[in-house]
Amino acid sequence: MSKLIPVAIVIEDEPDIRRLIKVTLELENFMVFEASSVSRGLIESRSRQPEVVLLDLGLPDGSGMDFIRDIRSWSDVPIIVVSARTHEDDKIAALNLGADDYLTKPFSPGELMARVRAQLRRRSMTSNKGETTFRFGRIDVDLTARVVKRDDEILHLTPIEYRLLAFLLTHQNTVLTHRQILLGVWGPNDIENHHYVRIYMGTLRKKLEDDPVQPIHVITETGVGYRFIA
Ligand code: CA
Repeated sequence: MSKLIPVAIVIEDEPDIRRLIKVTLELENFMVFEASSVSRGLIESRSRQPEVVLLDLGLPDGSGMDFIRDIRSWSDVPIIVVSARTHEDDKIAALNLGADDYLTKPFSPGELMARVRAQLRRRSMTSNKGETTFRFGRIDVDLTARVVKRDDEILHLTPIEYRLLAFLLTHQNTVLTHRQILLGVWGPNDIENHHYVRIYMGTLRKKLEDDPVQPIHVITETGVGYRFIA
């Protein structure tokens, strides 16, 4: 993070929820700017250069999806959608448009902050490109040497499994849709082959997780996709 005090923008038209998010972030020393519409949110985002945006979907002058579409043409600021819409299609659409995470109302302040911190951590990790070694559970990964070890023993991964693991490691703590994973690992020709993702997540879990039936690293986001947690 380049700034001493991180800046957050809360785009939400319900005053009580906007206030709850603002107070939660301020307790963690964020400087918070508020907006209650898509258009105001875009103006604030341009002028404040935020570290994170918290975004409602149902706004008086349009949908949060419009905001994501617009801002993604000029900014890669982390966007966490905070919405009462529980339908999986909405989550998938928002994530595919470029949102980074999704929180369903009602949420606890603790969960909100955990998601915000995860985004900031990920951002500082990806901006500091030196990071090519990872450790989680009993696994060590060196992306430069292309070596994966479990308890110091070389772990054999197929090329697809390795690409999938590398993709997960560089997108930690973020919900990834099937489509994003297919694009990132297999490329545009296999975008409809959702079963690939399921199959290879299964084989990765068998190799990486202590208990593949109750994974703690390769987490399923039901109906949406996956999230990797180190
Ligand atoms: Ca709303």
